[in-house]
Amino acid sequence: MAKAPKTAISPTRADDYPEWYQQVIKAADLAENSPVRGCMVIKPWGYQLWENMQRALDDMFKATGHQNAYFPLFIPMSFLEKEAEHVEGFAKECAVVTHHRLEPDPEGGLRPAGQLEEPLIVRPTSETIIGATYAKWVQSYRDLPILINQWANVVRWEMRTRMFLRTAEFLWQEGHTVHATDTEAIEETERMINVYADFARNWMAMPVTIGAKTAGERFPGAVETLSIEAMMQDRKALQAGTSHFLGQNFSKAQEIVFQSESGSREYAWTTSWGVSTRLVGALIMTHSDDDGFVLPPKLAPIHVVILPIYKDDSRSAVMEYIHALRDALRAQSYDGVPVRVEIDDRDMRGGEKKWHHVKRGVPIRLEVGPKDMEKNSVFMGRRDQPKSVGMDRNELVATIGTLLGEIQQSLYDRADQLRIENTVTITNEADFRDFFTPKNAGNPEIHGGFAMCHFADEASIDALLKELKVTIRCVPSENNDTPGTCFATGKPAEKQAIFAKAY
Ligand code: AMP
Repeated sequence: MAKAPKTAISPTRADDYPEWYQQVIKAADLAENSPVRGCMVIKPWGYQLWENMQRALDDMFKATGHQNAYFPLFIPMSFLEKEAEHVEGFAKECAVVTHHRLEPDPEGGLRPAGQLEEPLIVRPTSETIIGATYAKWVQSYRDLPILINQWANVVRWEMRTRMFLRTAEFLWQEGHTVHATDTEAIEETERMINVYADFARNWMAMPVTIGAKTAGERFPGAVETLSIEAMMQDRKALQAGTSHFLGQNFSKAQEIVFQSESGSREYAWTTSWGVSTRLVGALIMTHSDDDGFVLPPKLAPIHVVILPIYKDDSRSAVMEYIHALRDALRAQSYDGVPVRVEIDDRDMRGGEKKWHHVKRGVPIRLEVGPKDMEKNSVFMGRRDQPKSVGMDRNELVATIGTLLGEIQQSLYDRADQLRIENTVTITNEADFRDFFTPKNAGNPEIHGGFAMCHFADEASIDALLKELKVTIRCVPSENNDTPGTCFATGKPAEKQAIFAKAY
C-alpha cells in the first residue's frame, strides 16, 4: 500500500473534518478556547484577519451611504418584550444581568448584591435598543432614511459552540436602517445582501448563493430574511451573512412613527443586516488544506514572507540582498495597496520556519540563500500549490501583483469547483434520502452536498428534514423561475430551494 504523504495537520480532512478544523486554528495560531464557556480568545494572526475583513466591509458600507454609530451593550428586559416573535426567538439564549455590585459572602468569597429593578439583557442583537433610539430621532419624512451600522460584540448563549462558527460571544457588525416606504426598505435589504455576496466572492474568494429564507428559518420578527450560503469542504452549508426586511414589525412595537409629506402619521419600515467573526471560520473551512490555513491574498495580513538561508559567513550578504528585495516588493502594489512583505529572520531551523508560515497560510514564501543570490533568483512557494520553484528575482518583483491575483482567483475557482461538483438536482424522496446518507462510514461528516429541489410547503416535509438532519438553506434569488413538482409530495411547486446539512 502506498504511504500517505505526511501532512502538517493531523487528522486530515478526510479522516476527521471537525477535528481537522480545530487543529488548523491551533496550528495557524488564530484563536484558542478561553476559561469562559463558549467564548474564545482571538489571537493576533486571527485578529489581523478580522481587521482586514472589517476594513473592506466598512469601506463598502460607507460607499453605500452608511455611517457608524454605537449603542449600549445592555438592553432593558422590557424592550425585548415588545416584539413578541423577536423575544420568543432570543429568550432561550440571553445572558441576563440582575445585580450591579459584589459584596463579601458570609460563607466565604463574594456574592452579587444590589439587585437591579429591571434586569438588563446583554444584547444578542440590537433591534430593540436601537429602535427605541430611532423612535426619538424620527419625526418627519425629512429625517429618513436613517442608514447606520455598528461594530460591536454580542452574546447569544449557544449550547453547542465551535470556534468562530458559533460562539457565545461574537464580534460582528449590525446595520439598522429606517425608511419611509416598503420599497426603499426592500431595496436596502437587497443592496446589503449583495454587498455581502460581493465581499464573500471578491475578498474571501468564497462562492455564495443569495436567497430568501423560508418562514421556519427566518430571523425572529422579520418579514423576509435574505442570506448568503456557502459550501464548506465537508459539503455542509454555512450561512455566512443575513439581511432582514423587518417590515413595520419593529416600528410598531417601538413607535417609530413619522409625519409623511402629505401630513399623515405613518409607521416607518426598517431593516437590519449582519456578518460576524463566523466569516473567519468560513474562510478556514473553505480554503484550508491538510497542511493548514490558506489565506486569500486580498485578506492576508502578510502577502509575502522572505526566509533567509545563510551560514555565519554569508549572513550579511544574504541579508543585504533580502532587504533590497523586500523594499523592491513593497514598492509594488496588489489590488491598489502596497504589497505586504515581511522578513522572518528568527533563529529557527529552516524547515520549521517554512512550515510555520505554511500553516499560517501566507500566500507566498520566498527562500533566499547564497546560491539563489548568485543566480539573482529566489525559491518561491505559493500556498495554493504543492511545489516551490526557482524564479528570477527581477521577474518576481515585476509580476508579484499578478501572482497574488492568480492565487486569489485559483482559490475561488477551486472552491467553486467543489460547490458545482457537489450540487445536484433531486426530484424524488428516495434520491433525496440517498444523497444525505453518508457514504463514507469512517467519516459520517462527509455526505452529499447541496440538493436543489422543488418543494411545495415547509410543513409537509418537516418530519423528513428532521429525520435526515437536513435544513432548507434558502430559496435562491437567481435562475429559479421554472416551476416543477415537490420532490416529497408531488404537489406543484413554484421554486427550488437548496437543501443541505448545515453548521
Ligand atoms: P442574525 O442576527 O441571526 O441574522 O445573524 C447575523 C450574523 O451573525 C449571521 O451572519 C450569522 O451567521 C452570524 N451569527 C449568528 N449566530 C452566531 C454565533 N453564535 N457565532 C458567530 N456568528 C453568528
